Amino acid sequence: MTIDNALQIAHSYFGITGQIKQLPGEVDLNYLIKTPSSELLTLKISAPNPSLELFDLQTKVLLHLQQQESIEALPFPLQAKDGSHIIWHENRAVRLLNWIPGRLWAHQKLKTPALYQSLGAACAKIDQALQGFDHPHAHRAFKWDNQQINRVEQHRQLFQDPEQAHLFDHFFKLIQQKAIPKWPQLRKSIIHNDANDYNIIIAGSPEEPQVVSIIDFGDVIHTHTINELAIALAYAMMNQPRPLRAALEVVKGYHDVFPLEAIELEVLYHQVAARLLISVTNAAINKKAHPDNAYLQISESDAWNLLKKWETINPAFAYYSFRSVCGMEPHPNANAFRAWCQKQNFAPILGKPFTEVPYTHLDLRVGSTDLGNNKHFESIMPFERRINKMLENANVEVGVGGYLEIRPVYTTDAYTVMGNEGPIWRSMHLGLDIWMKSGIPFFIPFDGVVEAVQNNAAERDYGPTLIVRHQAEDFEFFTLYGHIGEEVLEEFKEGDTVKAGQQIATNGIPPINGNWPPHLHFQLMLDLLGIKGDFPGVAFPDERSVWQSICPDPNLLIGIPKLEERSEPDQNDILRKRKQKLGKGLSVSYQQPLHVVRGFKQYLYTTDGRRYLDTVNNVAHVGHEHPKVVEAAQKQIGLLNTNSRYLHTEILAYAEKLLQHFPPELSVVHFVNSGSEANELALRMAQTYTGHRDMIAIEIGYHGNTVGTVDVSSYKFDGKGGKGTPPHTQIVPLPDTFRGRYRGEDTSAKYAAHVQKAIDEIHRQGRAPAGFIAESVLSCGGQIVLPEGYLQQAYAAVRAAGGLCIADEVQVGFGRVGSHFWGFELQGVVPDIVTLGKPIGNGHPMAAVVCTRDVADAFANGMEYFSTFGGNPVSCAIGQAVLDVIAEEGLQQQAEEVGAYLRQNLLELQQQFPLIGEVRGPGLFQGFELVYPGDNLQPAAAQAAYLANRMRLHGVLMSTDGPDYNVLKIKPPMCFNHKNVDMMVTLLEKVFQEESMRV
Ligand code: PMP
Repeated sequence: MTIDNALQIAHSYFGITGQIKQLPGEVDLNYLIKTPSSELLTLKISAPNPSLELFDLQTKVLLHLQQQESIEALPFPLQAKDGSHIIWHENRAVRLLNWIPGRLWAHQKLKTPALYQSLGAACAKIDQALQGFDHPHAHRAFKWDNQQINRVEQHRQLFQDPEQAHLFDHFFKLIQQKAIPKWPQLRKSIIHNDANDYNIIIAGSPEEPQVVSIIDFGDVIHTHTINELAIALAYAMMNQPRPLRAALEVVKGYHDVFPLEAIELEVLYHQVAARLLISVTNAAINKKAHPDNAYLQISESDAWNLLKKWETINPAFAYYSFRSVCGMEPHPNANAFRAWCQKQNFAPILGKPFTEVPYTHLDLRVGSTDLGNNKHFESIMPFERRINKMLENANVEVGVGGYLEIRPVYTTDAYTVMGNEGPIWRSMHLGLDIWMKSGIPFFIPFDGVVEAVQNNAAERDYGPTLIVRHQAEDFEFFTLYGHIGEEVLEEFKEGDTVKAGQQIATNGIPPINGNWPPHLHFQLMLDLLGIKGDFPGVAFPDERSVWQSICPDPNLLIGIPKLEERSEPDQNDILRKRKQKLGKGLSVSYQQPLHVVRGFKQYLYTTDGRRYLDTVNNVAHVGHEHPKVVEAAQKQIGLLNTNSRYLHTEILAYAEKLLQHFPPELSVVHFVNSGSEANELALRMAQTYTGHRDMIAIEIGYHGNTVGTVDVSSYKFDGKGGKGTPPHTQIVPLPDTFRGRYRGEDTSAKYAAHVQKAIDEIHRQGRAPAGFIAESVLSCGGQIVLPEGYLQQAYAAVRAAGGLCIADEVQVGFGRVGSHFWGFELQGVVPDIVTLGKPIGNGHPMAAVVCTRDVADAFANGMEYFSTFGGNPVSCAIGQAVLDVIAEEGLQQQAEEVGAYLRQNLLELQQQFPLIGEVRGPGLFQGFELVYPGDNLQPAAAQAAYLANRMRLHGVLMSTDGPDYNVLKIKPPMCFNHKNVDMMVTLLEKVFQEESMRV
């Protein structure tokens, strides 16, 4: 059949003409026709001698659906000239269907929870509308019917690869044993039976995609209704790092439209596996028969990969999770268990009731100030000291708590996995911990039988665990004891009976328990989830409702009287109060603001146990809450904090240390408290020294939030709410060689000429310049690197006119640019005044102005200079610690090396995504600018904002800036490493592929 024949057929039977294009298909020949009136239609021509009944079935199903109000867009059949919906042309059946505009699921990159839900809803609507509808041919023998899974068995020999053979056998057996016996209880009806990724149509905005239709009714069949959802899940889960998370959204979307029954959820896991087995079997058969037809094996490797992942997911866990999203208690026995516990008298776990044990509730949450800095729990010795201190402060020997607590202890690389949207951590604790000295005995609360006793010391960090099986009315449950003494390995074996009140063991001594201070970990389980010998003690916080049900509150058996429920503040509440109490000019970052409660190194932590990679915060220069800086602050603040009118050696030691980093001409320092104050002081110095007032500054520069500094900050006065250039300021063009007034290399003379023009203008107005202020690399301007020689020429002009040159190093100083300690050194100049801020105190509010002896002396004209807080001993101690850490940890060198690696990676990304117009910046002060491809370099601000927001959802914090907000800035803490670059670039690559980033 040629494409012209096909068009001819459309014309003769349906009276349709237009442009025609062939589409892929398994059995039918499919064509897209665009009529002269731009209507889009699908022409479907069957293979020779098709099943008549099948076409009748498909057509009747679609005509039935067309009449249902709940059904919107489907490929409904159109009538031919003779009034029929199916035409017979020679020995082929021909149909014309309306075309559903949109894109295929298979090509969709951004998959939001709402998109998955809309898929579930689309399937549910079809299933619901087909309730009660029947057709004889829907009861046919069919290789794609889950109900006919046993047909795959005869093809078992196609799978010679040991892994494939294993997966096949494993799931085939599981289906036989666990699903098929329950089939008689399942609902049956006609279903679409093929919501695969090439049959799902998506429309809606790039940021809010929605499933609008399911096409191709060639596989409709009468089967268990749940198979519709099972099939949709099988494809929707493919290529997702956490397939079950994706599945749960689809299930929710389905259940919200057409409620699912518990028995259906019980077999859903197996029905998904059935579809995948059918899919790989049919692909293998096809491969043998038609080795060249790629379409026939289209999802084969994806299906195998999913089967592999599916095997790692416990079927019962999947079932409980499905129940959870359908609003049922996840574990069917959880409610009965809680009620049963209320009626029992359990033997006290410590040998006496907690009413007689002095104890305290320990707070080990992410935001716990009791727990404090990460260094307190990074290794066993300080961790133990910390726990002991918490007990000591409460004057007790026993600490309790931890059930469902989200802990920073678990947010290290050891507990991370890649989720569907960035890395996630098993940071939620499932047991209850009893912290006490090692060697204290504990006792079994209820009669039972030893299920498992195992030493985990070799693979894990918690020594032996004991699991006991208990019988409660008509169901069983389990108790787990972890971090316990090795004697348990001798004293108990599987199958031993234990009695309530019997001593089991003592809590373990630290070497047995790896990195943990002594404590007993006590946990309840209603299901062992097929795990032998041990059980997870931590879980992903986004699975809280499920784990809470599988692992009920251990305190139900222990009865600690006062265990406060510690909930985290509601985010919306924080936002609301913020709006009420704080100035409206204060903005918050990201569409979904972050509530961070902890920082360490290059990471920030939220209460929900996620660790974010911070690529923005150049203030936390040597790393958030660097222990050495924290310690310096704590030591000095406990001793003395006063002003600089007293003699103190700290201020001198710091001044000396800081000035060592400057060229000899810059030999005097004044300490202040913020970058704005530093620049304000620098302006006053220039004005006092010269006796003039006019300043020259760079377009889109930013120097601070005070009256004086806003007057030289074009970023502010030329931005929203600004009133334009003030009378005593001259603004020179932003030396942006990519998108500025002069482009390319060798433009520095042209840009610097504007400084001379500004001086001429000041002279023309009968005055002389006080000075010129410039950031050494412009930050708010969009990470603008000054062209080579710019500052040399600009400084020469300013100095010739009697003005002073101020370098604003508030953003870029302290080794960030890698090759040099200060940004101005990149330009080979020595300023008269240098201002320092942000990184100087690693987050502690302090700043400084460094200048020449001449300038300092001229400024000391009799008027006292005093800043209450500037140069206080605490700030000076912190400032020294920062300088020490930069040197000790070789951070300038690291900025250079990691910066080069980052640059190389970003340049490679640019090759892939032409939206990246330029990558620029020295060391760890980089940026990339998004512009529409083409010569006019239109800024792509919406894409920049989208990128920053998506990266935040993936766990990487980035910010946008520049006059058009189209520049992504990368200026992380200097401990940022190669692995961090890799993760960031991997995620950037993912987000860059999403629909919203396409131009
Ligand atoms: N100068 C530059 C270059 C800055 O980026 C900033 C702060 N963004 C300041 C000065 C002002 O510093 P502060 O906010 O500490 O007053």
